[in-house]
Amino acid sequence: MHTHKINIAVDGFSSCGKSTIAKGLAKKLGYTYIDSGAMYRAVALYALRNGWITDTGMDEEQLRQHVSGIRISFRTNAQGEQETYLNDENVEKEIRTLEAANGASRVSTLGFVRKELVRQQQEMGKKKGVVMDGRDIGTVVFPDAELKLFITAAPEVRAQRRFDEMTTRGENPSFDDVLANVKERDLRDTSREESPLRKADDALELNNSSIGIEEQLQWALEMFHKITVKK
Ligand code: C5P
Repeated sequence: MHTHKINIAVDGFSSCGKSTIAKGLAKKLGYTYIDSGAMYRAVALYALRNGWITDTGMDEEQLRQHVSGIRISFRTNAQGEQETYLNDENVEKEIRTLEAANGASRVSTLGFVRKELVRQQQEMGKKKGVVMDGRDIGTVVFPDAELKLFITAAPEVRAQRRFDEMTTRGENPSFDDVLANVKERDLRDTSREESPLRKADDALELNNSSIGIEEQLQWALEMFHKITVKK
């Protein structure tokens, strides 16, 4: 049986079920789950509230000046779920809108935003025992992570999942809008200059278009045991 803790990176496109796998793994292993996308969303919310993100552009200069004053943290609620805090305010609900998702995909192209958030993320992983999901965890945040998973799924499958999530929350989105949003974010995530989304050379890939949650979790746990037993 292994005794030492490792860090686990879970990367992939938006809405491909990264967080479900990452949360499930963390729960099984007694590790801390960290949603790095929530941090980009929180920065976007901060910028949106200040009017620094508009239909036509971004006020990069304002963001640059204020980014180090944006404190993001996570706290567990009474139901045991993790919630995102922006300067001590619970913003979990507000960061899950399409507007915040689009804003996140835009602020995440800025090098100085990435630098600050990567710094905070590396700090959170210092003691190990972290499962972090995102786009650049295996490539930039924890290049030495002992286990790296790269999750993929067809855009239509991912759009359907997001559509179902939003409908469950009582929202009334159009499927075409959600699909367009997924594709737009894919393009932005893979084509940006700063830390574009790509599979780390040593990451294990899983396409979960037609695999259930239990099976995925089992696969991830198997990979974990393979790696920790080797040590
Ligand atoms: O994962 P989630 O959809 O919540 O992420 C929101 C946005 O933040 C993504 O579209 C992506 O552009 C950005 N992101 C990133 N790097 C990460 C996590 C998220 O650039 N590690």
